[in-house]
Amino acid sequence: MEKTTIKELLGDYKKLIHHDITVFGWVRAFRSNRFIALNDGSTINNLQIVVNFEEFSEDLIKNINTASSLKITGELVESQGAGQSIEILAKKIEILGDNFFEEMQTTILQPKKHSLEKLREQAHLRFRTNLFGAIFRIRHSVSFAIHQYFNQNQFFYLNTPIITGADAEGAGEMFGVSNFDLNNLPKNEEGEVDFEQDFFGRKTNLTVSGQLEGETASMGLGRIYTFGPTFRAENSNTTRHLAEFWMVEPEVAFNDLEDNIDLAEDFLKYVIQYVLDNCKDDLEFLDKRFSEEQKQKPEKDRAKEGLIEKLENVIAKRFKRVSYTEAIEILMNSKENKKGKFQFPVENWGTDLQSEHERFLVEKHFESPVVLFDYPKDIKAFYMRQNDDGKTVAAMDVLFPGIGEIIGGSQREERLNILKAKMKEMHVDEKELWWYLDTRKFGSVPHAGFGLGLERLVLFVTGMTNIRDVIPFPRTPKNAEF
Ligand code: ATP
Ligand code: MN
Repeated sequence: MEKTTIKELLGDYKKLIHHDITVFGWVRAFRSNRFIALNDGSTINNLQIVVNFEEFSEDLIKNINTASSLKITGELVESQGAGQSIEILAKKIEILGDNFFEEMQTTILQPKKHSLEKLREQAHLRFRTNLFGAIFRIRHSVSFAIHQYFNQNQFFYLNTPIITGADAEGAGEMFGVSNFDLNNLPKNEEGEVDFEQDFFGRKTNLTVSGQLEGETASMGLGRIYTFGPTFRAENSNTTRHLAEFWMVEPEVAFNDLEDNIDLAEDFLKYVIQYVLDNCKDDLEFLDKRFSEEQKQKPEKDRAKEGLIEKLENVIAKRFKRVSYTEAIEILMNSKENKKGKFQFPVENWGTDLQSEHERFLVEKHFESPVVLFDYPKDIKAFYMRQNDDGKTVAAMDVLFPGIGEIIGGSQREERLNILKAKMKEMHVDEKELWWYLDTRKFGSVPHAGFGLGLERLVLFVTGMTNIRDVIPFPRTPKNAEF
């Protein structure tokens, strides 16, 4: 491309010294009618523009403010001042568009500290801030690294449907899709809504997971992954749940549970390493922000490691692999449980783990990412492979510090008769999933996969604490602005 970004300039300027160049960007600050800090979004770093105001009209100078959009041509020189390597001595300045200064000052573009809540209300402007610039550049790098990892490991990127007739989890937390006139719904003889008259001739919903369709593809292509939007109408207003989030779901023929855990660990470490190697400036900014935030907290609640240190440590160590049964023992015998410190006391084998239990294991007991496996069959989905003990299934969850569950997966039940029995037991309609069952009829093989919530991984690598701050336009209960 012809146009130069500020990132390119700051990185590789030697051959351009004393040349005239043109740059574009937004004003972050204009000091003493002389120094413009210009940012174009390509990097967190600003380019310094030196303006000799006597050479420009008073009118032009007066109209350059915070948030102004500019095109500047000038000589690139090595900077005399501290704080930057190069600067541009402006020869020509063009204001590219309106900037309503008075109004700007009531927005988050006004250069002062704004709360994250306030920033969320103006989500369309937060891309201009250092914080959200850093977060969304990192989000991009995480996505890129995910594709790169799978491509390097011979996985095929597969797009599963967004509108589907299948309910992957059987959990019912789905958004329906219909083009009926809601004020005039056609009814059948039983007086129920007649979906046969709807667009698809049946009831459909937005996907909660691409897994079942992904499995069918892996039964021919071998290694596939999906990476797309997922929708869950769960009415849980937490800092870890969105109604619309992006999920990455590899599905691999011939893999068993251990292969699946190995893949999850290798994959997470690759992506985190990629961010460490390629997002230095943004990470350093977030690292500093993270430490400042810790200082505001009481001593006992402070993180033991800095952000970058935390990422490096996660890569260095092997994740702890612990069976559900072992984990329950640890939890039942813990001081916290005995002293009634858990909101949900752990009383017996078979109970589902709450986020407080997961975080106890990761943050207090093991002080390491933990992979829990072999869960009781009654608390997991119908497609998970039954273990020989008859009590557990080959499921696995990866738990991360500060996050809790970041990945959930399993080896899938490949034996037709066992799968059918399980579906019956769990009231999953065989007729609806005839195509899924077909994969167990014609050359069925052991296979396994998992789902990673992209936003939970971005939360982890940026050190942010609310999932609404790592997706450009969050969708949560009672909130779908923009
Ligand atoms: P949780 O118990 O945290 O609600 P889950 O068990 O419902 O998660 P899965 O159905 O296993 O999650 O989905 C796989 C992954 O997708 C999870 O490990 C998590 O990273 C992510 N995920 C699930 N639900 C959400 C959500 N509502 N918002 C953001 N990410 C989610
Ligand atoms: Mn959930």
